[in-house]
Amino acid sequence: MRLCRFGEGRLGVVEGAAVRDVTQALDVLPNYRYPLPAFDPLIANLSKVIARARAILPKAPSLPLAGITLLSPVASPRKLIAAPVNYQKHLDEVRDDKALHHNNPAHTITIHSAGLFLKATSSLVGPGEGVVISKPERRTDHEVELACVIGTKARDVSKEDALGYVAGYCIGLDITIRGSEDRSFRKSADSFSVLGPWLVTADEIPNPGQLDLQVAVNGEVRQSSNTKYLILGVAELIELASSFYTLYPGDVIYTGTPEGVSPIEPGDEIVATIEKIGTMRVKVRAHEDVHNHEGHEAHEDKSKKQLFTS
Ligand code: MN
Repeated sequence: MRLCRFGEGRLGVVEGAAVRDVTQALDVLPNYRYPLPAFDPLIANLSKVIARARAILPKAPSLPLAGITLLSPVASPRKLIAAPVNYQKHLDEVRDDKALHHNNPAHTITIHSAGLFLKATSSLVGPGEGVVISKPERRTDHEVELACVIGTKARDVSKEDALGYVAGYCIGLDITIRGSEDRSFRKSADSFSVLGPWLVTADEIPNPGQLDLQVAVNGEVRQSSNTKYLILGVAELIELASSFYTLYPGDVIYTGTPEGVSPIEPGDEIVATIEKIGTMRVKVRAHEDVHNHEGHEAHEDKSKKQLFTS
């Protein structure tokens, strides 16, 4: 099943070029009270939500996919985990280009030495919300990545069992300001973690290690690879991550980007595609454009609130 979040906290099932509005399926979520749980409520209750969505699907209103604003399929992850230099050819291009490594040896070591890093959850947006360039004087790059959403609490999971802990997959964009600072700082600006266009449940992708992925900017292909070239695949990343910290439902793992990273600017359109997931279109905007547009923040807050109270 392809589950999307859209508009003001609505839930949809994607069927071809249409979205069936199954927001009422969120009624099965428990009424959480403060202190809120350490997981995303929708993902933690995914099987119940899907069962209700299937039951109401025949009478669910149908909307054209093209007309809706897609939000992050996971509203409230507690961790955005990311893998650095996890494709050999990307590591090679980082080593060969000073603009990418900035004389920082930490940027040119393998993932086995570098481990994983975290991105601020406040950087998370859906494709319909777009990317905002916050530091126009700095180089800001796209990184297309397979993103894996954890479905079940996981601690010290072996790679043999790891895929059983996955709720589903999305396309991720790990937007990055190049420079010498820590990755968690440069990659955590508002809107720098795009997740979308929807969650494809894990049953539809039994092998995440054999997926073509691609990104084009303004129609020009910049990155094109396959997840078979990942140094640590999804299962190995879950094994590594869960050996350090507990993974909770809704936690997202950005699995790393292949070669071909390049700068983006306001006005650009990023089109990212991953086999068996789909395609998402993401607009790049200038900081001033967003903050002069009154009402944007209010809309965003309302949409997040609605999911919690539904
Ligand atoms: Mn990345």
